[in-house]
Amino acid sequence: METIGWIGTGIMGNSMCAHLLDAGYSCCIFNRTEEKEKQLIAKGAVPCASPAEVASRSDIIFTMVGYPSDVQQVYFDSAKGCLSADVKGKVLVDMTTTEPKLAKEIFLRAVGKGASSLDAPVSGGDRGAREATLSIMVGGDEKVFERILPLFQIMGKSVIYEGPAGSGQHTKMANQIVISGTMIGVCEAMVYARRAGLDVTRMLRTIGGGAAGCWTLDNLAPRVVKGDFNPGFMIDHFVKDMKIAIDESKAMGLNLPGLKLVCSIYEGLAADGKGRLGTQSLVKAIDSLAF
Ligand code: NAP
Repeated sequence: METIGWIGTGIMGNSMCAHLLDAGYSCCIFNRTEEKEKQLIAKGAVPCASPAEVASRSDIIFTMVGYPSDVQQVYFDSAKGCLSADVKGKVLVDMTTTEPKLAKEIFLRAVGKGASSLDAPVSGGDRGAREATLSIMVGGDEKVFERILPLFQIMGKSVIYEGPAGSGQHTKMANQIVISGTMIGVCEAMVYARRAGLDVTRMLRTIGGGAAGCWTLDNLAPRVVKGDFNPGFMIDHFVKDMKIAIDESKAMGLNLPGLKLVCSIYEGLAADGKGRLGTQSLVKAIDSLAF
């Protein structure tokens, strides 16, 4: 069996790497905060001192960090980055949600070192990562995709090849544009229902069975009812994604007013110190006292 490298063992990466360990793969791991490696080490993962060490000890290297700047550091740092190691014949797979242009840059630099890369962001949230039901959207060479497919299938239930490098990230941007709309719709409906005196849980069950049914309604609305505003998916990460989507759409000559509106409301929450809360906290921007 090939040795797996895993960099970034946060909310998503921890569960995803755990599935590969459970499937019998040996994993070399690295995370900026060592504390977050503990659960995986207890399962048999081998801790490394840097992304470069992970890359030199593994055949297929997955990254699941936070922001584009984290991805740049993990891949391009001249002393400690993955691409500073000898990666000839290896595959680098970035599953972070990041910029399509950065995915293309990683691809070109990897090819320059005799390696290959895929951009493979995911959707399905913390629950999808825990339950291995993620939707995985992949850009890069199709032959490399086929080689990595069995590993993706351990982490997700829908794994789709989207096209050349950057196409996975563009698909993820389309996903985030939809999510921005469903988040605002679900939160406004909940505030409305509470003000109208409805039993909110019953309302969610009722409309979830009709045309309003969606992942946000099923997974995040019940957390709001319980007063659970922990991340799941952090506001700061969602703002990062919406800004990438706004920049990409601008570069294509598009104006997406709905996306911009939702992004500005989330930016207000982040400015108010709520950036590390879950995205369901959008409800607080609509009515801070309703839930
Ligand atoms: P997270 O909990 O913050 O995990 C990111 C992990 O990467 C953290 O453990 C972080 O270390 C580590 N990291 C960041 N920069 C690093 C670096 N330079 N070197 C080594 N480790 C580094 O975030 P997450 O929720 O798992 O999300 C990860 C990515 O997936 C984000 O791009 C997010 O937008 C995307 N995503 C998230 C969800 C979701 O529902 N959570 C769903 C789909 C996609 P520290 O502990 O030191 O910060």
